[in-house]
Parts: sequence; structure tokens; C-alpha cells
Amino acid sequence: MPGCVIHGAGDLRVEDVPSPVPGPGEALVAVRYGGVCGSDLHYWRHGGVGDFRLREPMLLGHEVVGTLVAYGSPDTAGPAGGPRPAAGASVAVHPATPCGVCPECVDGRRNVCRDTRYLGSAARFPHVQGGFAARIVVPAEQVRALPAGLDPRRGALAEPLSVALHAVRRAGDLTGRHVLVTGAGPIGCLVVAAAKAAGAARVTVTDLLPAALEYARAAGADTLVRADDPDDSGWPGEVDTAVEASGVAAGLDTCLRLVRRGGVVVQLGMLPPGQSPFPGNLVVSREIELRGAFRFDGEFDDALRLLAAEPAFDALVSAVVPVRDAASAFELAADRSRSCKVLLDFGAAPAG
Ligand SMILES: [Zn+2]
Ligand SMILES: [Zn+2]
Repeated sequence: MPGCVIHGAGDLRVEDVPSPVPGPGEALVAVRYGGVCGSDLHYWRHGGVGDFRLREPMLLGHEVVGTLVAYGSPDTAGPAGGPRPAAGASVAVHPATPCGVCPECVDGRRNVCRDTRYLGSAARFPHVQGGFAARIVVPAEQVRALPAGLDPRRGALAEPLSVALHAVRRAGDLTGRHVLVTGAGPIGCLVVAAAKAAGAARVTVTDLLPAALEYARAAGADTLVRADDPDDSGWPGEVDTAVEASGVAAGLDTCLRLVRRGGVVVQLGMLPPGQSPFPGNLVVSREIELRGAFRFDGEFDDALRLLAAEPAFDALVSAVVPVRDAASAFELAADRSRSCKVLLDFGAAPAG
């Protein structure tokens, strides 16, 4: 069966990978769609993301929806606190398996678990293989039935929307606030939607690319600003809260300069490896709260509910590409002048 394997920087291959067999407590999922994420693009272009480097071939992908094929036996485990999807059900896969026993897990911050397993991530070695394959095996408690009426195509946004919901939660109460989002990639656009859903009165988005800003508009942004145009009339004098979603130091600079005194800046975009310059004295003299946001935990279920309720999310899925053309899908996803979220299509679920 086809799988999308990264062997090193610039070396992405669609190759035949063995079909996995579920063990006790595991579920076999026939993947329908897999969203190409910024981190997948980083592995492809640079052989790593942030401070995580690729050290062996790895199946990419962690934004997957599909059909539940079977549970391994004995099949005792199921999603915590929810009904277990039956064979044949459309499901989304929560990509994280926190360890459950480290200080962060015990403290209720499972998204920063120091020993987590995350689909398609080189953070640990051996790497955790990802979800870009026609069939995958995952812990049974990680599968979630798609809510009634949620099309799998839109459901493929559940993972990145969870990331956005977590960042918004980290920002604190946004009710009635003016929120700045730097970066209108798929994550930035989903932060716009999440901020609006959380009650933000106004969301201003900056990006270098007009096409990306139009996706942010579709996600509900009120004001669009060309980041490279200091004379753009959309620049706010001051905002209450800022979410940095571009992953470049210039974006963090913008957030720190525009947030009000005592305001919150959430760094969500993964910055380049190593050190990044930022105007640290503003953090001091304005008592700005600079907070990180990394992945998510329970937000996955919230994301599925939000997606089911809001058809406008469909506008953010800009292309669906057969897995055999994965190389062109990655090229497309990397060109933000032509795309927002790009999905790989693994085809309809085979019988059995
Ligand atoms: Zn992702
Ligand atoms: Zn843990």
C-alpha cells in the first residue's frame, strides 16, 4: 500500500509500505485524507522542524481522517469518556499519545508531555511514524467518530484547528478584544476562526501575501494588513492580544510592538532552529506576557464540534491531491500564493 516517506531534506518518496496489523488496544484505520502541515513541509525542505532533526526515514503526516476498519484483539480500550466508533465509522485520529505519568501529564498539561508520542514526529528516536499511508494503526483511544454531518474533507482540519484553539486558550479571555494574528497560513487562518469563536470583537491579520490574506478573510478576519507595507491603513495603533503564527522573528517583533501594556502575546509559529532576536525590553517595560503554545490536548473534541457546525471552514481546504502526486501536493502546499490547506487523498476505504 502507498505511504509518503521522507528520507531526508528534499527526498520525499511515495513508496510501498507494509500494511500494519493492530495489536491489543489498537485500531486499524483506512486513511481517506491527510492534511499537509507546515511541519511536514519543514521535514521535506530542511530535514527537520524547529530543533527536531530527521535521523531515519519516516512516514509523514499527523492530520488524518478515514474509516475505522477493525480493533486489534483483545479490543478493550476505547476513547476515554466517549462512545467507541464502530467498524465502518468515519473517524479522525488524535495524533498524540502522552505518557500519562510525567510531571506535566500529572499536572494536566499533557500537550507538553516530556515523553509523548506524536504521529509523524522526529522529536524522539526511533521516530514516531506518521499517518500518510493507506492504512495505519493507532492506539484505540486516539480515534474519534466524526460528528454527524461532518464531511471527512472538512474533518481533516481537526488537528490544525485544535492547535489554533489551544493557542486561543493560552491567550486568555478574548471576549470583546481586538486580536492581532501575524501570519495567514492555514494555522493563522484557523486562529482567526478560533478567536472569533472565542468572542473576539475584532481580528486583524498581517501577512506578506495578498492571496493568504484572502483566506484569512474567509476565516472571519475583520482587517487585513500587508506586513511589508508600513503605510497600510489597516495597521492598528494597539491591540489587546496578539498571536504570532508566522514562525518568523519579524512577526514576534510586530506582536510585541503592537500589543497594549500588560497584554498577552502567544508565540505559536515554530521559529527557526537556534536563537531568534526579539525586542525583549518591551516585555519588561510594558509588562507584556509572552506565552508559548504547543500542540493541544482536549481541544481535539472541541475542534470536531466547531467544524461540524461551521461550513465556512470548507474555504480553507484549497486542494485535494491523489497521494501518488504527493510531490506536487507538497509543492502546492509550500506555495502560499496558490494554496491554504492541501489534503492528500488516499482513496476510498478498501473493503475488509
Ligand atoms: Zn499539523
Ligand atoms: Zn507525560
